[in-house]
Amino acid sequence: MSALDRISQWFAVSRHACPICGQRRSSHSPLLLPVRHPRPRRILQALCGVCRSDIPWITHPLCRVCGRAERCGDCARRKIRYFEACRCAVRYDDRMRDWLARYKYRGNERLAPILAAMLAYVYESRFASMSIGAITSVPLSPERLGERGFNQAESLAVQLAEWYSIPYVPLLRRTRHTEKQSLKSRRSRVIDMKGIFECMDDAASVTPRPVNLLLIDDVYTTGSTIDECARIIRGAHPYSRIYGLAWAR
Ligand SMILES: [Zn+2]
Ligand SMILES: [Zn+2]
Repeated sequence: MSALDRISQWFAVSRHACPICGQRRSSHSPLLLPVRHPRPRRILQALCGVCRSDIPWITHPLCRVCGRAERCGDCARRKIRYFEACRCAVRYDDRMRDWLARYKYRGNERLAPILAAMLAYVYESRFASMSIGAITSVPLSPERLGERGFNQAESLAVQLAEWYSIPYVPLLRRTRHTEKQSLKSRRSRVIDMKGIFECMDDAASVTPRPVNLLLIDDVYTTGSTIDECARIIRGAHPYSRIYGLAWAR
């Protein structure tokens, strides 16, 4: 076999390897692909059948506020809420934790379009029928952005905005970062959030009229991040309605 044959064979092999597990398994899955747009659909179709059937889609949210698949105490406890509702693509199980960690902490960029394609499912099923004026995302602090090199929520949001031809507008800045959210009690999380976001100086002119905004985050834990972002955005744009879209819950 010539070197050229070997190279073309290698390309043929790598083209069909699943971008998640690397196996050359059939991409056939008995589950229907829940995304209609051809680009995210093609991305999800490249996953092997096993990885595709591992995705714990939240198809029937039980909490109408946060989109959780289980009964939800967090939303019942919240007296005032600045966002209208949030929906999430998947349950944050061990496998999804691993997928996100590969992208977010280990910088594996092959995961970015896959996670964005999973958001496309929620966008199409929940938000496409509404008029969404702009997409924005939860910002990272400058320190964390420096460490990681990219804002994972923003990358997903920009990709989603491009697919559905919605303007992506950065509206918020994070003034400081907080300790790892998952290690704290709910109460200290809420207190901690106060004052960590501000509107970007030039954001005030972006939404001069009532508009539905879609705010993207990677993981929804208690909703305090999305709620605080929504509070700040609504301070500058009182008529805006903020909807959250998180990759996992
Ligand atoms: Zn796979
Ligand atoms: Zn809830």
